[in-house]
Amino acid sequence: AETLATIDPEIAQVIAQEVARQEYSLEFIASENFVSEAVLEAQGSVLTNKYAEGYPGKRYYGGCEFVDVAEQLAIDRAKELFGAEHANVQAHSGSQANMAVYMATCAPGDTVLGMNLAHGGHLTHGSPVNFSGKLYHIVAYGVKAETGTIDYDEVARLAHEHRPKLIVVGASAYPRELDFPTFRRIADEVGALVMVDMAHIAGLVAAGVHPNPIPYADFVTSTTHKTLRGPRGGLILCSAEWGKKLNSLIFPGIQGGPLMHVIAAKAVAFKEALQPEFKTYAAQVVKNARALAAGLVARGYNLVSGGTDNHLMLVDFSGTEMTGKVAEATLEHAGITVNKNAVPFDTRSPFVTSGIRIGTPATTTRGLTEIEMEQVAGWIDRALKNSDHPDVLSEIRAEVKQLCQRFPLYPQRLG
Ligand code: PLP
Repeated sequence: AETLATIDPEIAQVIAQEVARQEYSLEFIASENFVSEAVLEAQGSVLTNKYAEGYPGKRYYGGCEFVDVAEQLAIDRAKELFGAEHANVQAHSGSQANMAVYMATCAPGDTVLGMNLAHGGHLTHGSPVNFSGKLYHIVAYGVKAETGTIDYDEVARLAHEHRPKLIVVGASAYPRELDFPTFRRIADEVGALVMVDMAHIAGLVAAGVHPNPIPYADFVTSTTHKTLRGPRGGLILCSAEWGKKLNSLIFPGIQGGPLMHVIAAKAVAFKEALQPEFKTYAAQVVKNARALAAGLVARGYNLVSGGTDNHLMLVDFSGTEMTGKVAEATLEHAGITVNKNAVPFDTRSPFVTSGIRIGTPATTTRGLTEIEMEQVAGWIDRALKNSDHPDVLSEIRAEVKQLCQRFPLYPQRLG
């Protein structure tokens, strides 16, 4: 039979190498996770062949009777998981989820108040290089220098001064709990709508280990592939009242045919997240982040805001010789994957940065606990102190591989 390996050995090799990379290194990128075999199976299915423009029961193509069931299951489970009235599961990505909400609520040139990218916000929250920064008048809030936590007084002051149409809440690199009631109060004072982008924390919200934004937001957007542990994609939740308009902004507004294989995989991931074990998982993600943060602080590292309430932390190298760029490369040699990240008020360029972002969703999925996090803190410290000693980094890499072999990930996929 013809297989990928016979038809396209180059791509087959890429996949084999990536399987081994994921299996034998420690994944601490805060936005990544490992999906289940069931999610992979749904996503790698013949549903990829199907055109299904429209929504369940109202399609522009024939033959949608089975994919309709998949999309309706995804919708119903998303609503149940987060307690929402309406769910759109078609957004191809988190960025497109956000774009649809902007288009449903704002006209080009309208004012949007969002979190500064340099303080932890996402590109789609108003960065000048992104559609959001190009199409809308963006006003940015940030964190306080002394505490590293969101400056809610500044949010209120900017909201009253600029009267935004929309306030965007949420971040890609913020280690603390978000205060949704305060954002809602500020928005109500100035007649603004609230969009919470919970992409990073969606799994924690689903499991009840981070407050749920639904009662405080007009729209909640998310990715499905981070702490929520589903396939790569987007999700939008809102009131029944906004539902029709929002749907029309995703299709035909900014997308064509939905990715039915991905939507089926989202349904599987939502089902998994509804199980009691997912609560245990998300609670362990937070425990692991706390343990790793404590291990790093004990070894003399500075963390933005001093620690973490969620799945991630930012190590701040400001005032030292170390940079985010060197730290990322050093840890990669040691078998530990993280990403360089600007810290608030960073004086180095975005290509160098003074920080790294570390997150525990992926390693928690493969079974690591607080005990291993203490070991990881030791490896990170030893690696960073030996960034110019390749022999030490190789030693650590071998120890990391041994740990990984104790916590297998996709054993049946290894060659
Ligand atoms: N929103 C937040 C807070 C994110 O962190 C991300 C991804 O990093 C996104 C949106 C965008 O998601 P995507 O990469 O799927 O477009």
